[in-house]
Amino acid sequence: MATIEEQAARDTTSSTDIPVENPATGEVIAHVPDLGAEEIAAMAVKGRAAQPAWEAMGFEGRGRVLLNMQKWLTDNAERVIRVVMSETGKAYEDAQMADWGYGISAFGFWPKHAPEYLADENVKTAAKLLAGKKLILRYKPLGLIGVIGPWNYPLANSFGDAVPALAAGNSVILKPSEITPLTSQLLLEGLLECGVPEGVFQVATGRGGAGAALVDEVDMIMFTGSTATGKKVMAKAAETLTPVSLELGGKDPMIVMADADLDRAASHAVYYSMFNGGQTCISVERVYVEEPVYDEFVAKVMENMKGLRNEVSTGPGATDVGSMTFPPQVDIVERHVEDAKAKGAKVLAGGKRGDKAGYWYEPTVLVDVDHSMECMTQETFGPTLPIMKVADTEEAIRMANDSPYGLAASVFSKDVVRGEAVARRIDAGAVCVNDALMNYMALELPMGGAKASGLGSRHGAGGIRKYCQQQALLVSRLHMKHEVHMYPYKKGTTKLLQRVFARLNGRRKSA
Ligand code: NDP
Repeated sequence: MATIEEQAARDTTSSTDIPVENPATGEVIAHVPDLGAEEIAAMAVKGRAAQPAWEAMGFEGRGRVLLNMQKWLTDNAERVIRVVMSETGKAYEDAQMADWGYGISAFGFWPKHAPEYLADENVKTAAKLLAGKKLILRYKPLGLIGVIGPWNYPLANSFGDAVPALAAGNSVILKPSEITPLTSQLLLEGLLECGVPEGVFQVATGRGGAGAALVDEVDMIMFTGSTATGKKVMAKAAETLTPVSLELGGKDPMIVMADADLDRAASHAVYYSMFNGGQTCISVERVYVEEPVYDEFVAKVMENMKGLRNEVSTGPGATDVGSMTFPPQVDIVERHVEDAKAKGAKVLAGGKRGDKAGYWYEPTVLVDVDHSMECMTQETFGPTLPIMKVADTEEAIRMANDSPYGLAASVFSKDVVRGEAVARRIDAGAVCVNDALMNYMALELPMGGAKASGLGSRHGAGGIRKYCQQQALLVSRLHMKHEVHMYPYKKGTTKLLQRVFARLNGRRKSA
């Protein structure tokens, strides 16, 4: 089998193929097939045929293959990081830490924890008439899972979802974003080398229509992307009653309280708003700073911004902030900044498109912002940091919760008890105190959005159980040939049963 680099070099393009660009340079680096509904249906047949043998390999057999892949990722680190960079335009370190680094952690975590999260549970019941019967809750793989991935983290997001589905014993069809299909193709190559049987993991390249076709074919759909497309996926899945799990957009707030360590808060605000070009669903999208420390905080932010490089990444240490990945995203960022400027915001850094080839927007800091501006209320998903002054903690909490989104948030205070109390009042799936985003590294901790940010969660027990049918088993070991409650109904037995029921269930003294 030719490697994806060899395929790209041959470039046997057909007119319906999708060109893949390096967004940092605008250069077309490969073409991938644009699959249609018939091809997706054929892949589904193949995936279903391969699944039972994969399930039969058990946790140990599947775990061995997934751990082989963890080693493969380690051995092929440079190649993987370079492919991620080539189709996303991100900095080397962003691809290394958040894609490759997350990948090796996920390929180790799920084989280790799947047996524990999906172990049979013996259930005790209060139903007295079931005494002696064995009750089991069992997690049975659903069969064929569809994973629809976005372009911001082609490894971390798509494989973060595919690995637990595979570890549970499902086969998977991954539909990567049309913008970033190469990482998925490379990892498919790796998985086949590592012993994943043919058909158990497949990559369906294509546009949005391929994603829609996939929804019709699978037993469960895991979607990551925009809230608008997430709603379309859910509506389509409703036609076939296909379960969905949705990881959608966010507008994550950071609250800086008056007693915060301002050096730490400022470095976190800058790093986690600019990391990955700001194209992270849980990036810091807006900051609320209490009035007494506002000026000092802004000054420290600007110190952190000084010298921030925004160049094509050629390797380790070459730049800080990479390009944007999705061309229309540059327009969204520009619209939000222009809207803010028109409504009175001040630009302290950046504030315009980059002038290089490719897709660039300068790392931008905005102040004098408020909730009449799009940059404070809509997902920007770019390298922008709008900072708003608030009177006190109460106003900060009110503003943080004034959003249709509820993905993640962060709170900074030297008083960790107060900080945690504030965190508990934020309507978000995850909140960090004196930190940001790091919860995502703990694969034991559920990560899922509140409000319009999603449905279901990834990570933790729920992150693998969602790929399973909960099956209830009742095994009757000691029993009579004929149970007393059965036909024919007899007056005497009925009255007796009533007394027995009342005795067994109603003997508690009244309060
Ligand atoms: P989308 O939500 O449109 O796309 C996400 C994935 O869904 C892609 O693989 C896409 O395919 C696919 N898709 C598109 N239409 C359908 C459909 N009708 N049925 C099934 N699948 C479909 O995200 P975009 O890439 O357009 O980005 C738009 C916005 O989403 C961004 O501005 C950002 O705000 C947000 N976003 C959020 C992410 C997150 O991590 N939560 C990640 C990326 C974006 P294709 O790419 O081929 O069209």
